[in-house]
Amino acid sequence: MLSKVVRKSVTARPLGLRFKSILQLSSTLTNYPKDHSVSEPYLTPSFVNNEFIKSDSKEWFDIHDPATNNIVSKVPQSTAAELEEAISAAEKAFPAWRDTSIIKRQGIAFKFVQLLRENMDRIASVIVLEQGKTFVDAQGDVTRGLQVAEAACNITNDLKGETLEVSTDMETKMIREPLGIVGSICPFNFPAMVPLWSLPLVLVTGNTAVIKPSERVPGAAMIICELAAKAGVPPGVINIVHGKHDTVNKIIEDPRIKALTFVGGDKAGKYIYEKGSALGKRVQANLGAKNHLVVLPDAPKQQFINALNGAAFGAAGQRCMAISVLVTVGKTKEWIQDIVKDASKLITGSGFDKSSDLGPLINPSSLERAEEIIEDSVKAGAELLLDGRGYRPSDPKFQKGNFLGPTILANVKPGMRAYDEEIFAPVLSIVNVDTIDEAIELINKNKYGNGVSLFTNSGPSAKYFEKHADVGQMGINVPIPVPLPMFGFTGSRGSFLGDLNFYGKSGILFYTKPKTITALWKSNNLDDEILKPSTSMPIQN
Ligand code: NAD
Repeated sequence: MLSKVVRKSVTARPLGLRFKSILQLSSTLTNYPKDHSVSEPYLTPSFVNNEFIKSDSKEWFDIHDPATNNIVSKVPQSTAAELEEAISAAEKAFPAWRDTSIIKRQGIAFKFVQLLRENMDRIASVIVLEQGKTFVDAQGDVTRGLQVAEAACNITNDLKGETLEVSTDMETKMIREPLGIVGSICPFNFPAMVPLWSLPLVLVTGNTAVIKPSERVPGAAMIICELAAKAGVPPGVINIVHGKHDTVNKIIEDPRIKALTFVGGDKAGKYIYEKGSALGKRVQANLGAKNHLVVLPDAPKQQFINALNGAAFGAAGQRCMAISVLVTVGKTKEWIQDIVKDASKLITGSGFDKSSDLGPLINPSSLERAEEIIEDSVKAGAELLLDGRGYRPSDPKFQKGNFLGPTILANVKPGMRAYDEEIFAPVLSIVNVDTIDEAIELINKNKYGNGVSLFTNSGPSAKYFEKHADVGQMGINVPIPVPLPMFGFTGSRGSFLGDLNFYGKSGILFYTKPKTITALWKSNNLDDEILKPSTSMPIQN
């Protein structure tokens, strides 16, 4: 069990009296799930004022282990009263947190980083259980979030303002101030990394937050909050609520929430961006993707094949930066059989099994949809070179899991579902073209612009590609070019809505607003010289 009731108390709540059952997470630094056996589904609590609280909700959603489809947990649709509690806790905590010195906030961030590192395997194990990815990949999920927290510790440099003596005895300084409460809405595929794209920056910039993890994988975010509280984050600064549309709508609509940070699919992202922006909120929304990898005939062949298969099938293709389209240029189409041969050696299985290269899909409907897209694309003329449908690991425990082995479709063309839709599964579509220009045209016509990769040994070809491919994150001989957090996550075109990207310098700008202060401290008291008020525009020379 991940959580258990430790005490009950009666407390006056803002929306009336109710029993508040305070829980604690029973996974610890050393005691956490190491396999798929869960005796009893645990109830995921919410996190408000640094307490884990059992929801009063009558509506609970089952969380299934994707490898077995056994129910491992339940997550509530937070009630209206619980949403109100979380938002008002964040509102009350804001003034004191904003005024907490930056050195103190930085100190808490350092401690938070240390705790995240210590608890890496504990968080990763919950990710394996709820999300399905392999343990090593789940450690990567935590690590990429941890790196954002590490970079956030540099806030004492990143938040420095600007000052200039603009005129005699007159100085203008520009500072950046926090916004207030930030609402963060997260997807299922990175249960630790995505909450950590926002949480550390919220903390160091002096904001407070109401976070809604994906209702399919809330466990990692719960541990992360426990660690934030242990690191010294005061009650109310970080709060977690749960649920689906009702929770998201409350976060969008409540006027106390000043900014929205969203990561997920196109439909929800567009809705949140449009509705949030119309209400005057600052919104950043990272959306879906279709990432191409272009290979030129001069590329190092085996290096390219290893990189491609890792990026296409790792995490069962459930990464927004997964490579889902291979574009073979010229005679590189002759390498396809070798790609298929190596991909067929990848092992699909339990995330807790060290020999697995990829785990199951998140749920049966994702599996069904991926299988349908494969079927439809074959009917439309694609050639099925590797078919992962119907794959089952040999262990009888996993017969009901959502497994799809690596699948490769060749002769794919725009207009086929395999090319047009984000499949979010271990399915690689191969498109053949004759020139780098045709490859670039294909990429630039695609509605998405998250990531792209080129494999070549030619500097001039790489430079040409850099200049002409219109995609936000580009890898040259790098298959998943997600920048480290000293840079931003720069998805573009159909993969991003907003003006300020996630983390990096743009992240700091997203969580803060500028203020200029112009001050005059006269070195001589010249009152006697001022004969009358000046009504002309001050030019300060
Ligand atoms: P999703 O859009 O289904 O869910 C994301 C969040 O939005 C969840 O918290 C969910 O509860 C909420 N939500 C879903 N539908 C909603 C609706 N109609 N109204 C209001 N809220 C809604 O996405 P997902 O399936 O959890 O995640 C996979 C998607 O996320 C993929 O498309 C993937 O490309 C994308 N993603 C993008 C990035 C990126 O950085 N570009 C990173 C990770 C995932």
